[in-house]
Amino acid sequence: MLSLLLKPWIATCRETGDHLSDYLDGDLGARTRLRIMRHLARCEHCRALLESLMRTLEQLRSLGTIEQTSPAPATVRAIVDRIERDER
Ligand SMILES: [Zn+2]
Repeated sequence: MLSLLLKPWIATCRETGDHLSDYLDGDLGARTRLRIMRHLARCEHCRALLESLMRTLEQLRSLGTIEQTSPAPATVRAIVDRIERDER
């Protein structure tokens, strides 16, 4: 029931998974981005997913196959840490 009430405010795991790469690219609207940030602050599973995606992007970047458009992993990490602190 609680999760139903929170739904407009917090993205689901599925939604977060679907939007993770857009989230990293900064391609999301403010509202969706916030919902995903709130979800990431609560969901260990999706944070792990985000981290593995960041590692993948970092590896790709070190191979020189993509441009430096995504935030540096350390920056994203700092953002997630900050969200976690704010939410508690
Ligand atoms: Zn999740």
